[in-house]
Amino acid sequence: MLSQARAGIEAGEAVAIHVEGLTKSFNGGAPALDGIDLDVRPGELLALLGPSGSGKTTLLRVVAGLEPISSGRVLFDAQDATELSVQERRVGFVFQHYALFRHMRVADNIAYGLKVRPRASRPSTAEIRERVSNLIDLVQLTGLGRRFPGQLSGGQRQRVALARALAVDPRVLLLDEPFGALDAQVRRDLRRWLREIHDRTGHTTLFVTHDQDEALELADRVAILNKGRIEQVGTPDEIYDHPATAFVASFIGEAVRIPVEVGEDGVIVGGQTLDAPEVLIRGAADWFVRPGDFQVADGAEPALEAQVVAVRRTGAGRRVEIALADDLPRIDITLEQDRPVAVGDRLRLRPRSFRLFAR
Ligand code: ATP
Repeated sequence: MLSQARAGIEAGEAVAIHVEGLTKSFNGGAPALDGIDLDVRPGELLALLGPSGSGKTTLLRVVAGLEPISSGRVLFDAQDATELSVQERRVGFVFQHYALFRHMRVADNIAYGLKVRPRASRPSTAEIRERVSNLIDLVQLTGLGRRFPGQLSGGQRQRVALARALAVDPRVLLLDEPFGALDAQVRRDLRRWLREIHDRTGHTTLFVTHDQDEALELADRVAILNKGRIEQVGTPDEIYDHPATAFVASFIGEAVRIPVEVGEDGVIVGGQTLDAPEVLIRGAADWFVRPGDFQVADGAEPALEAQVVAVRRTGAGRRVEIALADDLPRIDITLEQDRPVAVGDRLRLRPRSFRLFAR
């Protein structure tokens, strides 16, 4: 451990990133970032998750100092980074297609950022060699330091890219879809691996992805972006179980969205009323239920009646397509495999939990 610290692999004092009132437009168009406030805690791994075009990469590039902004500021701890150059910010980057230097061996790729430093801040050749060797071990490429990038798999190349980003002892680590070009199994392996590296090195890390499984599994907290705004920031559990907006409820996980009216007696779904004493909103609303949260009600409970339209077997359970009313979208729900159900049956259903958002 001591030699790792000496070789500069562990983050120094981890910094917080504060983003305040950030707005950015390209060529006077609609804002790519529209009033972003975000606090990343020291040593935290925070995922930026959102659909294509929501502003994730732009936000990352602004934090890196690669994009000018229209208004707002970025602070690293108390230091205003807005006026600092890319080099002065000391950020480590890994991009989806961050090509390594193809003519350089793995070890030289990793050492590059240190070797090009001005003489005064450049470590000695022996120190660079030790740091590179420790980094190669850290990213589990021991013995491959003399290979060229062309002799590595895609996953191995991204590990070299991470080692190169870590070599310069960055204050923050910025990762933009680093596993985006890799196949599903490699992505899953690297996800676990990155989390382990992060736990060992403790860099404050921003991770861009449009893959929600990746974000929920990897990150301490997730920020959901939509049209240049942050919809919600929370732990994976908070985001999944307590979506703050209709957008998050429909974007994360699988949820059915049904237009309803909410009155004094409860939620009116296609002419049927589901009692919901805890619901405070009134009027037109969107009702979100996860397919696995529909349960068949026992005789006494109030429930919604639904007609079975189709039944399909899926692995451990059954996918049952139901209609609550003719003019409502059909709903796919999941039921246990041992429950007999056939097309045309009428089921009495009750959601174990649901979310409602006023329209
Ligand atoms: P993706 O997941 O597809 O990479 P993203 O969430 O990272 O998307 P950004 O790349 O940040 O989204 O783009 C946000 C918005 O800014 C989009 O509308 C995009 O078209 C626009 N944009 C991004 N870069 C530029 C640019 N250099 N010039 C003009 N518009 C841009």
